Amino acid sequence: MNVRLRFAPSPTGVLHVGGVRTAIYNYLYARRMGGKFLLRIEDTDPERSKEEWIKVITEGLSWLGIKWDDEIVFQSKRISVYHKYAQKLLKEGKAYYCVCTEEELEEEKKIQRLQKKHLKYSRKCLNRSKEEIEELVKKEGRKKAIRFLVPEGQTEFKDIIHGKIKFKNEEIEDFIILRSDGSPTYNLACVIDDHEMGITHVIRGDDHIPNTPKQILLYRAFGWKEPEFAHLPMILGPDRKKLSKRHGATGVLEFKEQGFLPEALFNFLVLLGWSPKDNREIISKEEMIKIFDIRDCRKSASIFDRQKLLWMNSEYIKMKDINELLKASLPFLRMEKWWKEEFERDLEYLKKTIELTRERAKVLKDIPYLIEYFYKEDFGYDIEAIERYFADSRVFEGLEEIKSEFENVDEWSQTNIEKVIRNVADKMDVKHAFLIHPLRLAMTGRKVGPSLFALMELLGKERCIERIRRVIRELWGYVPGKTDIKKD
Ligand code: GLU
Repeated sequence: MNVRLRFAPSPTGVLHVGGVRTAIYNYLYARRMGGKFLLRIEDTDPERSKEEWIKVITEGLSWLGIKWDDEIVFQSKRISVYHKYAQKLLKEGKAYYCVCTEEELEEEKKIQRLQKKHLKYSRKCLNRSKEEIEELVKKEGRKKAIRFLVPEGQTEFKDIIHGKIKFKNEEIEDFIILRSDGSPTYNLACVIDDHEMGITHVIRGDDHIPNTPKQILLYRAFGWKEPEFAHLPMILGPDRKKLSKRHGATGVLEFKEQGFLPEALFNFLVLLGWSPKDNREIISKEEMIKIFDIRDCRKSASIFDRQKLLWMNSEYIKMKDINELLKASLPFLRMEKWWKEEFERDLEYLKKTIELTRERAKVLKDIPYLIEYFYKEDFGYDIEAIERYFADSRVFEGLEEIKSEFENVDEWSQTNIEKVIRNVADKMDVKHAFLIHPLRLAMTGRKVGPSLFALMELLGKERCIERIRRVIRELWGYVPGKTDIKKD
């Protein structure tokens, strides 16, 4: 079968993670089946639909590498089509005009509430004669909406994820398909478009389950074949409440700003509701396209675990092609006050600093901090480390010795650097760590970081010697807790 799927967001706000996961599942299934993945913008509400939100959607999808096929379908450009089909239903007696005012409808509901009845339109206008309706239009200036006449019986469908779902039609009111201002409602526009776009599978959030019987009734009224439906369970916060801003769950582009890699977010979101048979967690998009099946999706809600996302992102940072990682890191570096344009002249050096430190990055935003000391000479020293590693004055003797030995090193390599340091420690009869820790502080100002020898090689001989000089100058005679020293 030639499958056709679509993602149909309403451009009324940021593209949040729930929406993106829906897009991803549609995309993956379409690719898996060798079908099409289409994008439809449901912008029929002129009050709430905004151009900027459309941009957020297309940018968000593009950033995640979710490519749609064909032209984007905009519902706002298809209003006449919806009118044509609404008229068709009207002519066939499957829909009827309604001129009830807000007040009338409110009054009805009030009575139903008092009688503890199911709230449902009374079909007042179905029982009004044509003349009566026209008179209300003429005399009172009322506007005509069109309601769908829900037939008797029951409507059921087999949801791919949830199985059989049944609705009694008597519980469904004659819903409006065309508002009195001429705008179509979601259910009408959605059915017409899904039909005209040849959609074979509708994958969407399970908040739409109550809409599905209405849509099925419309398909049947038009005499069209309905697509298969798969309703995805919700994504919840760690407190099992609906995911919201409170949880730091934000629009997809905010993840970009926070330094997440698109492939990591993609991978993470796919696993919120689906997992491969072998329960692996790091899976490339290409592989997912080979194995993803909407039929294997879980019925229960998934929890959005930010820690796991951070872990996954760090894994992707470790794996990423270094040239690409460099490119992705640049915007974050450029945001730093200390970053200078001239640093970008030596991209090879920059690449090496990233290569050396990427293991410690959870998000791209960590990278500037991680490589800062490769560019700055006037960094501060970690106070705790000073107190820990410089309390014994023999450290300074060791550093002096290392410094002079370094002067004689011709080939500045990790191995030679290491040799010097270990020899000096052995000569002094101290543990190697006795000198390695203070050296790390001298080189980076920090307690932890990548391999000391590797980072010293990269810094180069002159800078290493100068940094040893500086640490001796600044810390010599320092009594922990008494002397004022430079801090970050
Ligand atoms: N515009 C609807 C939404 O954003 C589309 C639902 C559907 O996929 O049918 O929820």
